Amino acid sequence: MKAISEMTHDEAAGVRFVLMDIDDTLTREGKLLASSYAALWKLKEAGIKVIPVTGRPAGWCDLIAREWPADGVVGENGALVFWEEPQGGSKLPSLKAEYHPAAVKNDHPVLARTKERALSEFPTLRVAKDQFARLFDLALDFAEEDPVLPLSAAERIRDIALEEGAMAKVSSIHVNIWMGKYDKLSMAEHFLSNRFGWKSGAGDREVVFAGDSPNDEPMFARFPLACAVANVCRYEGLIKQLPAFVASKECGDGFAEIAETILAKR
Ligand SMILES: [Mg+2]
Repeated sequence: MKAISEMTHDEAAGVRFVLMDIDDTLTREGKLLASSYAALWKLKEAGIKVIPVTGRPAGWCDLIAREWPADGVVGENGALVFWEEPQGGSKLPSLKAEYHPAAVKNDHPVLARTKERALSEFPTLRVAKDQFARLFDLALDFAEEDPVLPLSAAERIRDIALEEGAMAKVSSIHVNIWMGKYDKLSMAEHFLSNRFGWKSGAGDREVVFAGDSPNDEPMFARFPLACAVANVCRYEGLIKQLPAFVASKECGDGFAEIAETILAKR
């Protein structure tokens, strides 16, 4: 990874979309920072499309799409995308939703079995408290609250899910488990092309993605201008495809550094 300060003027000038993970990319210790939230506004005011791409629930995405300076939000690791559409004249914007065709409701017996095995193998593991707001995935909390379990436990839980025939990704706080073949990347690409006419290949360098953890790896691998915040180093060895750039600062301050660098070099 190169320092974000090494991004060239041409690279920054070509950016049309900034996509970002939320937990430990915009937040620090669970809180959205003033620096990172202000950075979202600055990007939007510069005409760049701002699109969070998160493992967080549908219920949170409703709020994000309506309330944040965002042009859309991909949630539940790619199961859904929500966005607002202006209705013209004096009409209020309308919230639109699209669900991945492969998304399966989270009452599936494979998810129930995975949860049972994971909770019996790790008695201090728990279902994430935002589970009630989820439509498609099961989130097991290993690090959002205490007791924090080691990353090796999160990897083992992921492996149990894969053995059971589910999909699973480890974020900085949860193991997300779902049925259906999709991820953050497939839904993000679909949304970029359907909503904004983005072209895969020719448009690859129009997209900056910023993230921090193993569930961001498909995005890191796909976009040549992908960036990480400095706390990505916690997952050394767990991420095979690191992004091109890394911020010097951690979490939301790292995201603000990435956004400000892009804006300053344009
Ligand atoms: Mg994260």
